[in-house]
Amino acid sequence: SPRARHPRWIWRNGELVPWEQATVHVNAVGHASVAAVFEGVKAYLADDGRRLLVFRLDDHMRRLADSARICRLELRHTPGELGRAVLGLLRANEYHDDTYLRPWVFPSGIIREQMAPAGSVCEAVIDSWPFHARPPAAEGCSAAVSSWLRIGDASMPPRVKAFSNYHNGRLAAIEARTNGHDWPILLNERHKVSEGPGSCVALVRDGTVITPSLTSGVLDSLTRATALDLLADLGVPVEVREVDRTELYLADELFFMGTAWEILPITTIDGLSVGEGEPGDLTRRLAGAYRATVRGVDTRHSEWLTELPV
Ligand code: PMP
Repeated sequence: SPRARHPRWIWRNGELVPWEQATVHVNAVGHASVAAVFEGVKAYLADDGRRLLVFRLDDHMRRLADSARICRLELRHTPGELGRAVLGLLRANEYHDDTYLRPWVFPSGIIREQMAPAGSVCEAVIDSWPFHARPPAAEGCSAAVSSWLRIGDASMPPRVKAFSNYHNGRLAAIEARTNGHDWPILLNERHKVSEGPGSCVALVRDGTVITPSLTSGVLDSLTRATALDLLADLGVPVEVREVDRTELYLADELFFMGTAWEILPITTIDGLSVGEGEPGDLTRRLAGAYRATVRGVDTRHSEWLTELPV
């Protein structure tokens, strides 16, 4: 049925619109999409099966507003309104399981000039689809350092979650796949480790977790921020600093962090096995703590969860 392929409702500019009717004219695509910024939010079915738990909803909506501000886009909705719209959409589409939500904004109307000017009024959209953790979350994945460099703050700021930025990640992902690896890790303009195409990265060496700083050409990832807090709970020392490429080769453990990827172990890097070539102990413990947190099993950080009865 069509329901199986798409949800009934999309949220658009304050209203629920039937999915089939949420269209734009083809002329509205090109330059408007260049300036579009978005968020990726996850709602988890709680372990009791009775609630959806939206993870760090307020933080995601604030980051959307931050992206819009840097891109000089004018939002017609506050982060609070967009957060409530996310909940309304989950309810309207009658989701009862893990769901991915993608709020995004783009300059509205037909843009005839080359560039959407500063202060462009935006359309806001929230779409959604069923989403389970990406395999092979348990077994881990292979990674390779990309020959494409990560875009930088002085050109295409990675701190902005703009669709355009994914052109860079996409080229790197294609290269990785072409060479038989699952995912790329990109170096920044200073040739230090930055991030993956849809996730941040960290390594473990001698019991310390090391991750590139937020000025390394990365998105200010909420999974990364969450991981740093959970590692503090676990009493694991953390270093946030510049990371050299060769440190990846000496790591005992290596993992990606992101809303969609969660905590994804990396078991080979540029063909070298990471540690024993299996997900490491600390990575597993962190992934377990993350899962327990997002499913409401561990309630120590319940301030991150917005509950919706289902
Ligand atoms: N970096 C990039 C480029 C991303 O697309 C994402 C996914 N949003 C992340 C990092 C991880 O961010 P978050 O943990 O907030 O999902």
